[in-house]
Amino acid sequence: MKYVSTRGEAPILDFSDVLLAGLAIDGGLYVPDEWPARPDLSADATYVDTAIALMAPYVAPSITVSELAAMVTEAYATFRHREVCPVRPLGNGLSLLELFWGPTIAFKDVALQLVGRLFDHELTKRGERATVVVATSGDTGSAAIEACRGRHNLDIVVLHPAGRVSDVQRRQMTTVDEPNVHNVAVGGTFDDCQDIVKSMFADTGFRQIVGLSAMNSINWARVMAQSVYYATSARTVGAGAPVAFSVPTGNFGNAFAGWVARRTGTPISQLVVASNSNDILPRWLASGVMATRGVHPTISPSMDIQVSSNVERLLFELYDRNPAQLADRMAEFKAEGTVQTGNTHLATVTEVFDGAAFDDEAVRAEIRSTYDTTGIILDPHTAIGVAAGRQARRDPDVAMICLATAHPAKFPDAVESAIGIRPELPEHLADLLDRTERFDTLPLDLGLIKAYVRNVANR
Ligand SMILES: *Cc1c(COP(=O)(O)O)cnc(C)c1O
Repeated sequence: MKYVSTRGEAPILDFSDVLLAGLAIDGGLYVPDEWPARPDLSADATYVDTAIALMAPYVAPSITVSELAAMVTEAYATFRHREVCPVRPLGNGLSLLELFWGPTIAFKDVALQLVGRLFDHELTKRGERATVVVATSGDTGSAAIEACRGRHNLDIVVLHPAGRVSDVQRRQMTTVDEPNVHNVAVGGTFDDCQDIVKSMFADTGFRQIVGLSAMNSINWARVMAQSVYYATSARTVGAGAPVAFSVPTGNFGNAFAGWVARRTGTPISQLVVASNSNDILPRWLASGVMATRGVHPTISPSMDIQVSSNVERLLFELYDRNPAQLADRMAEFKAEGTVQTGNTHLATVTEVFDGAAFDDEAVRAEIRSTYDTTGIILDPHTAIGVAAGRQARRDPDVAMICLATAHPAKFPDAVESAIGIRPELPEHLADLLDRTERFDTLPLDLGLIKAYVRNVANR
């Protein structure tokens, strides 16, 4: 398998180089140069068996099937559910696909538990070290730390906006006591932290000195790993018949993984893009115009995003993989904050995608009504997926699978404000609020933060 950049001006790479590079040097995102055929899978294949069979073509020739099998097996052994990503009925033809059984109780573990191992494998093979720098508004930071902790050939630096992440989220990052884990509370917003990381990547000299690497959601390996649970749950729920999915969406990594699953043979008739008040994607699907607005803080903070970077991969397909045309559109979007993607193209997208958006009040109402009718407590992100699955469903005879992206205990305040119950943390995190925190504090200053990262890389 070879990988090409969506903007067409970066070298064509193998999987292992794409893994470590993250973003392509022309500013584009890497995608496979062709979509693999669906492998034959027996009806009783486990999650791990399915993951190995589906991902093997993407990682060849960098990684052998037996190496992949060992990493996949280890990655999903960290999940506290035998089925890894189990499905649970919600009534009325709806199901919940629970993606929160990993170490940090949010869906980012599904990809990052594997990606951490892939990084380790590749760096060991090359005899290299890397410094992974991540900006987080909450969930990515802890999932990346859990993926990297204790690994000898990499350090991880996580920048979080001081005072702007929840207690549970901060403590999941700052109570990890490992010499290669470095947390920094930055005096700024999440967007400020993200800008600092982008500036570091733009400085090629610095990038080389510290061996800078990224694990953010534009990394192809994350999309690849996420496409697996669409296949396993479609098989469990649909047993061969087409199914629909509703996806709580921020950066569009998860929803794009659904598109990839469909493109490579999973029978999916509909994908619902579920948003909070930051509804750039539902507005685009309704109008054909992608236009940014300011970020609006909500009770589903992991979806408070203004620009969904992974949409670029979908647009690349829409423009028939014509990188020049895509690069023009992306330049226009960057300059103007708005772009018209064209009616013919939009029709191809809306053949499968629908959008729906919900404000905080509607989210609380969904948490309440699901709890009242089923006794199941949804986290606010998952509640958006469920509400969208109900509202945008095209065919009542087609099963609707709603992705549960976080455990409710990760967002206890939002849940309590809806139903008056404070969900309890699972056992492995029960003493989280008593553990010792360890983090550094830095002002919003690129020079100081770079010096900090350089220091970490040289330790
Ligand atoms: C990251 C995250 C999302 C958004 O996923 P994307 O792949 O960025 O669209 C939704 N819910 C939760 C709980 C998350 O952590």
